[in-house]
Amino acid sequence: LIRDFIVLADTHCHLDFEIFDLDRTTVLQRAAEAGVIRVLNPGIDLPTSQAAIGLATKWPIVFAAVGIHPNEASTWDDSALKELRKYASSNKVVAIGEIGLDYYWDRTPLELQHRAFKAQLGLAAEVNLPVVIHIRDKDQANKPALKDVLRIVNDWKDDLSKKNSELEDRPGVLHSFSGNVQDANEAIAMGFRIGITGPVTFKNAELLTTIVSTVSADALLTETDAPFLTPHPYRGKRNEPGYVRYVAEQIADLRGESVERISEMTTANAEGLFLW
Ligand SMILES: [Zn+2]
Repeated sequence: LIRDFIVLADTHCHLDFEIFDLDRTTVLQRAAEAGVIRVLNPGIDLPTSQAAIGLATKWPIVFAAVGIHPNEASTWDDSALKELRKYASSNKVVAIGEIGLDYYWDRTPLELQHRAFKAQLGLAAEVNLPVVIHIRDKDQANKPALKDVLRIVNDWKDDLSKKNSELEDRPGVLHSFSGNVQDANEAIAMGFRIGITGPVTFKNAELLTTIVSTVSADALLTETDAPFLTPHPYRGKRNEPGYVRYVAEQIADLRGESVERISEMTTANAEGLFLW
């Protein structure tokens, strides 16, 4: 019976990917059975942003974010901006994303990544939607992508504050966060939420478990990043939104709280950010 009181939000899931084409409806049914009441599907380019809106239009619990991923940043131009602006006016689009910096794959010149990221932060301010930020580093010791994101969003926050923007209190989320406690607290001080994914359930997740157990609970969001980053005990298999339950259970364990309370809190955190 306790199960009925669990409400969960999967704030990052690529439900539009082809890997879900054969059983998307069943996947969403399983998610609903696990207690998931909200799923955010971010785009990584224009076609996937459109697909995300399509799914959000079809399923009441699904919402969309639209944006160009840093690995696709070479496709950024004025017409992409115009398209995204148009997509953002759909009433089920609740964020701009995923956007950010990826120094791991290094697929796109940094200059182009920075240009697309900054332009989309500008679009988010213009259309009054929070951002979903992807950060990935190759240099794990110095984390230059994370440092650059923190510097760029700090400047953006100054702009928001000058414009008296409502986004000052809900600028966005650092998706699948992998920095240290100090980085997390720096982002939280700027008003950002911290997205927690499946790796928090892995045995060697010391940094993540420290973050989850020490930062302010109102900043935590639960995500799957499905089909990737599958939590224990399904590690290695395809991930799906219902598995966000394992992320919530692990956060609850680490903070010494009940899964009911953590689920309710992280779902409320997501609602406060995306206003869905
Ligand atoms: Zn993603």
